Amino acid sequence: MKIDTKLSHIGRSTAQSMQSVSPPLVRTSTVVFPNLKVFKDSYSETVFESPRYGRSGTQTSFELQSAMAELEEAETCIATSCGLSAITAVLSSNSKSGAHVLINSGVYGPTEKFCTTELKKNGVECEFFDHNASVKSLIRPNTSIIFIEVPASITMELFDIREICEEAHKHNVPVACDSSWGTPIFFKPHSLGVDISIHAATKYINGHSDAMLGLITGSYKSLEPIREWCNNYGSHVSPDSCWLALRGLRTLSIRMQHHQRSTLKIVKKLQTLPQMLKIFYPPLSSGKQLELWETQFTGSAGPFTVELCSCSEIEFTEFIDSLKLFSLGTSWGGFESLVMPAIPHHLRNKAVMPDEGRLVRFHIGLEDPEDLFEDIHNALTQSGILS
Ligand SMILES: *Cc1c(COP(=O)(O)O)cnc(C)c1O
Repeated sequence: MKIDTKLSHIGRSTAQSMQSVSPPLVRTSTVVFPNLKVFKDSYSETVFESPRYGRSGTQTSFELQSAMAELEEAETCIATSCGLSAITAVLSSNSKSGAHVLINSGVYGPTEKFCTTELKKNGVECEFFDHNASVKSLIRPNTSIIFIEVPASITMELFDIREICEEAHKHNVPVACDSSWGTPIFFKPHSLGVDISIHAATKYINGHSDAMLGLITGSYKSLEPIREWCNNYGSHVSPDSCWLALRGLRTLSIRMQHHQRSTLKIVKKLQTLPQMLKIFYPPLSSGKQLELWETQFTGSAGPFTVELCSCSEIEFTEFIDSLKLFSLGTSWGGFESLVMPAIPHHLRNKAVMPDEGRLVRFHIGLEDPEDLFEDIHNALTQSGILS
């Protein structure tokens, strides 16, 4: 089955018995068993994959997990309460005191914060590497996991995933990847060698900015320590969020095609404005980055960052506040366009700011791209940045 066909048919196995198209929303804390044998058998099943107790899921979360495993071409999937909880479960369960963890610089801010606070408190050493580092030389005997996010948040660098995985696997080190930006439509992490793929399903998979959710995919073996950790720590996912994400999933492919078309149109027009000093968007990159882009992704999503020419605080404020179609807010992945002033964590840490401009992150939603470009153009004019 091609992916568009899959999207219509996966995750519907419990719908049939209800004579409905979509699976029912099952909310329960207590799971009741028809007899002792079924009760006992439930303990031989893998937790988070069959009904045992509400905390480890209901038919609704199992439907979403099986759908996501199919989309990611992975054996299994674990749903968690949000994207960050999926990341922290993966990192915590794969590092104990004394371990060394490799993470790319430029990761999602809260991921970096978790490493530098909680993991550090637990005696784990986190080392951040940048996109032109040789990961091979950084792996140590106590390296327990390599975590990458592609593209990196805000500055959007790509990494050579195939090479990182090859090196990691020579030392039996698992590789986890935050795959939220590419979605299963444009990015196939497991085919590049990634053991554990993570999605902030809050973003494109749900797609409507009305639910929080994380999804982790991989083989049973790779996900076993994570599953155990989630079970021991009382990780739980709301069936309502899973139901919404399953509904969002049906239109993931057509939404992504639209986000891609509109974003490409807009970044190309923005490139013609001298006030845009730089646009951080993988399809516009060059050299090795472009090569990585072309070999790892089959399409591009809606978030990108621009480096605006230097301007006064008043002009900058006026620009952001004059945007009418872009709401001011963090996050992305919904149907709506968003804007956010951005200072990447790693740049803040290293106290290196891009030359002189200000970084602004946009998310291009499903509105008409001409309206969106006009909105940006008007706001630039109104603020006096563009005269
Ligand atoms: C938003 C985001 C997350 C966190 O997801 P939440 O559901 O908000 O916790 C993780 N990774 C990336 C790349 C994100 O953009």
